[in-house]
Amino acid sequence: MALLNNSSEIISSLGGVTGLESIDMGAARIQVDDKRIINCRADLNQLVPFKYKWAWDKYLAGCANHWMPNEINMSADVVLWNDPAGLTEDERIIIKRNLGFFATADSLVANNLVLAVYRHITNPECRQYLLRQAFEEALHTHAYQHVIQSLGLDEAEVFNMYREVPAVAKKAIWAMPYTHSLGDPTFKTGTPENDQRLLRDLIAFYVVFEGIFFYVGFTQILSMGRRNKMTGTAEQFQYILRDESMHLNFGIDVINQIKNENPQLWTKDFQQEMIQLVKDGVDLEYQYAVDTMPRGILGLNASMFKDYLQFIANRRLAQIGLSEQYPGTENPFPWMSEMMDLKKEKNFFETRVTEYQTGGTLNWDE
Ligand code: FE
Repeated sequence: MALLNNSSEIISSLGGVTGLESIDMGAARIQVDDKRIINCRADLNQLVPFKYKWAWDKYLAGCANHWMPNEINMSADVVLWNDPAGLTEDERIIIKRNLGFFATADSLVANNLVLAVYRHITNPECRQYLLRQAFEEALHTHAYQHVIQSLGLDEAEVFNMYREVPAVAKKAIWAMPYTHSLGDPTFKTGTPENDQRLLRDLIAFYVVFEGIFFYVGFTQILSMGRRNKMTGTAEQFQYILRDESMHLNFGIDVINQIKNENPQLWTKDFQQEMIQLVKDGVDLEYQYAVDTMPRGILGLNASMFKDYLQFIANRRLAQIGLSEQYPGTENPFPWMSEMMDLKKEKNFFETRVTEYQTGGTLNWDE
């Protein structure tokens, strides 16, 4: 190989292919061992042979769980919301704050996926899942918009909340630095420092943002649904929670696969840094619980959320091979795990269900 004698040649030798390279006529067929999750040099436009079956399985599971926000009946929520005695002021604040946080949070996740992460994950079956995930993030934003519109809320107020209300803003502000360098068009993986940068972004977004920052809001809204309040909104959140637990598990598989293929990245210092990242996430999300429910509500209070966040943080840490930081913490909301596993046909809120898993029929007549 010729000596790399200028910086642009060095840059272009780093990282993996993107899938947009010119077509190499007569190139050899893909072997499974050619495939790598990052820094892969083999063609990315050929889905098979599969190397990471878990990624393909999650893509199939995501498709089998397909749903649409406008299928969910919102009429009971509209009646309750418009009844002056229907909800307490604290309950209304919780609903609006969570709509405000999530309405922009899922767009932030989608933009991180599409504009930052996707280019650096050099594996077609993982990309297939990322495309499905990106669509699900769009569905989630659609769901929040659908709720906001159904309830007749001030759209500008809710969507701008992450730039007006500190409790909502803090988590988005925390996340931004973790997407900036990856989104830089000149950023490339292929050095230990940059590969760690990608791994850090993945842990920040999948484990902390989607794995911790969503869970106070999910619990608050789903708890309302369990008390027969805002059941349409709660059902939207239930489907979103099911999708999000898949996003989290996919992220964990990607993180562990990168670690397995690149063990040199997983240094003791880096592990300590990632533990601190998760702990900071727990503190910030606990602050969100305090800010959104200063007086306690629905049989919930902020200190229960401290236990819950520590419980899920222990699980997240263990899933990526780090030690649990909150020994002995128990789950005060065991019903939340049932919510994630719920099958569509056994819908908790018993509203109308469209079952996509049986397959649709195509109608060719116009
Ligand atoms: Fe997500």
